[in-house]
Amino acid sequence: MIMKSGEHWHCTNVACRCSVFVETTGEIEGSNPRCSCGSVMKKDYFPPVFGEMESVDFPELDLISKVSGRE
Ligand SMILES: [Zn+2]
Repeated sequence: MIMKSGEHWHCTNVACRCSVFVETTGEIEGSNPRCSCGSVMKKDYFPPVFGEMESVDFPELDLISKVSGRE
């Protein structure tokens, strides 16, 4: 398993939820790195485009809030 610089990894243990930011690309033994709590860590996945995401409105969420807020 290769951990590339710039990646974020998070612990799969919900009670721990530790996350790490990879500063230097490196390779470790085994399939997945392990957290200090002993649980397997997994790589976070982000959408490839960040800049456009922030300008996008979510009409579905807006609609839900309006409907639920109606008396
Ligand atoms: Zn952990």
